[in-house]
Parts: sequence; C-alpha cells; structure tokens
Amino acid sequence: MFATYCRTLKTNVNFVSILQRLESTLVIAEHNNEAVSPITQNALTAAKKIGGDITVLVAGTKCGPVSEKISKAKDVARVLVAESDAFKGFTPESLAPLIIATQKQHNFSHIVAGASAFGKALLPRVAASLDISPASDIIGITSADTFVRTIYAGNAIQTLKIKDAIKIISIRGTSFEPAALEGGSAKIEQAPAGDYKSTLIEFVSQELAKSDRPELTSAKAIVSGGRGLKSADNFKLLYDLADKLNAAVGASRAAVDAGYVANDLQIGQTGKIVAPNLYIAVGISGAIQHLAGMKDSKTIVAINKDPDAPIFQVADYGLVQDLFKAVPELTGKL
Ligand SMILES: Cc1cc2nc3c(=O)[nH]c(=O)nc-3n(C[C@H](O)[C@H](O)[C@H](O)COP(=O)(O)OP(=O)(O)OC[C@H]3O[C@@H](n4cnc5c(N)ncnc54)[C@H](O)[C@@H]3O)c2cc1C
Repeated sequence: MFATYCRTLKTNVNFVSILQRLESTLVIAEHNNEAVSPITQNALTAAKKIGGDITVLVAGTKCGPVSEKISKAKDVARVLVAESDAFKGFTPESLAPLIIATQKQHNFSHIVAGASAFGKALLPRVAASLDISPASDIIGITSADTFVRTIYAGNAIQTLKIKDAIKIISIRGTSFEPAALEGGSAKIEQAPAGDYKSTLIEFVSQELAKSDRPELTSAKAIVSGGRGLKSADNFKLLYDLADKLNAAVGASRAAVDAGYVANDLQIGQTGKIVAPNLYIAVGISGAIQHLAGMKDSKTIVAINKDPDAPIFQVADYGLVQDLFKAVPELTGKL
C-alpha cells in the first residue's frame, strides 16, 4: 500500500511539474531606461513562484542597458524589447496597447507587474481591454491560480483563486525577495511592432525630486514623522536622525496633508508600503491606514507622548516621551 501511495505521489508531483512548465509569465519591467527598478526584481521572484517560462517586456526610449541587465537574471527565458518615442514618460496609455499586442502574439498564462504607481496605472487598462479581472497587491502565491492579498486596510488576509484563463496580477514588492540580475543569459528579441503613440495623452516633461537619501520602498531604515512634528521646519529633527542612520524619511498622511513634507513620502494604505529592518515612528498615532503601510517592518520603534497611542501595540520598542526632547537626544547619542 505504501508503494502504491508513493507511486501516486510521484505521478502527482510529475503532473504538477508538467502543469508548471505549461505556465508562461510576462513580467512588465519598470525602469528609467538605464536602471532596473527594484520592484521588477521582486516581480521576477513572484513569476518564478508561479512556475514555467518567464518573459520580460522592456519598453522605453533607449532602454538597451535595461534589457541587457534583465537578460542576465537567472530563470528569465526571453526579454522582449520595444523602443519608441511613444514610450517617453512610460505613460500607461501607450504601454497598455503594447502589452495587449504582446499578449495576443505570445498568449501568456500570467501577466505580472509591481504594485507601484507604474503598475497600478497600467495593469487595470490591460485587464479591462482583455476583459479580465486583475488581482492587485498580491503578497503570496499558493499556486499558479491561487494568490494571497490583504483586504480591509491590511486587517484581513484573503486567498483568492482566479478563474480567468489569463491571470493578471500586481505584486507587493516587500513580499517577494528581489531576484539577482546574474546567473542567466536570456535571448533578447523585439516586441511586436506597432504605432503605440497615444492620441489621448502626450508626455511633455517631468521633474524628478533628487535626493541623496535611500529610496523609501527599498531603504533598510526609515524615520517617519506624523502630525506630532507640528511643522515642516521641525522635520529637520528627523532628517538629522536619518542622516546618522543612513535612513529614508517617511511621513503619515496627516503630516503630508498639513504640508510638512511632499506626498511622495506618505506611508500607508494610500501611500507607500514599506518593510525596512528598522522603522522609527515619531509623533505618529498608529491609525490602521498608517499601519497598513509599515507593520511588516522587522523592528518598529515608536516615540509618542501618549502612552495609549495605538502605535505602541505594533511597536517592538516604545518610548513615551516628548519627541522634541527624545529625538535630539537620540541623534546626539548616535
Ligand atoms: C481612506 C483613508 C486612507 C488613509 N491613508 C492613510 C495613509 O496612507 N497613511 C497614513 O498615515 N494615514 C492615512 N489615513 C489617515 C489616518 O486615518 C490618520 O488620520 C493618520 O495616519 C494620522 O496621522 P498622524 O498619526 O500623524 O496624526 P495623529 O493621529 O494626529 O497623531 C499624532 C500623534 O502625535 C503624538 N504627539 C503629538 N505631539 C507630540 C510630541 N510633542 N511628542 C510626541 N508625540 C506627540 C500624539 O500623541 C499623536 O499620537 C487614511 C485615512 C483614510 C480615511
């Protein structure tokens, strides 16, 4: 009987691996024509979990360096490149038709991108055009058609099975380790040619905020400030502390809405999702919408003068003190 069980098990295992080989995933690369965005590497790991062949689509203006880098990633079978002025500014209006044309030509079982501003603007357009229901912000992959995501601002975890023939998912970067861009040698081919210039929108220019600090979503340490900081000028206290820790600076929505910092620093349900090794929350109460963006951080430190602030419920270390006394003291000791 044991032998029969083993034979059945072996057959099932073979069957699963055959099914996995039938999967073919298209990963949409996010980049700036020179460097690969870290979330693309997270998406590659997610694609690997799905199983089967991985193709990466690199669309841009002069994006040769990016295709080269991605072609070196282990487990990537093919890189499809589309270079055109139509992709200036990476507008979803021009990229969506390219992805649809690529899908029609290659018939992938999965289309994956990061749940970043780029992926969030792009995938719903692709999904609507293909008449498919996308699944966003996936944090786990159980099988090729079953995925895990958070709901109710991170208060519940949902496992969902997608019945559509094509699975279109965006993945949460912090939930998948970044795949190394080495160890492989994928072939580089042309993506389907076409006139992808949008009649709806024209990219004019962009101004990028330059900062020597680490990027929020990939920083190992983050010092984050809330309404308790009371003014934009007082955020200097956090920048001084962040400099000592080589940390990025983040903020609650209340601090952003009050104009203390720019909105690209917002962490939470409607901001960025982060999971650094160290998260220091200063003058932040810990509303669930804020926790949704940072509670997966490895070590959470909270500084708040209110001992009942909800942030202390998720904090590994809590300091009940006036931040205007505690933060300069901490910075001085580092
Ligand atoms: C749909 C929706 C989406 C949202 N999305 C987000 C989101 O993405 N991110 C987000 O952060 N919020 C979000 N919010 C808002 C959220 O509900 C809270 O309003 C917000 O997080 C509060 O920010 P805060 O903790 O800075 O401010 P407050 O709640 O006002 O807390 C300030 C804290 O500072 C402390 N404090 C004050 N002075 C000092 C001092 N001198 N020393 C020490 N401590 C002090 C106080 O004790 C208090 O705990 C969202 C809300 C909604 C409805």
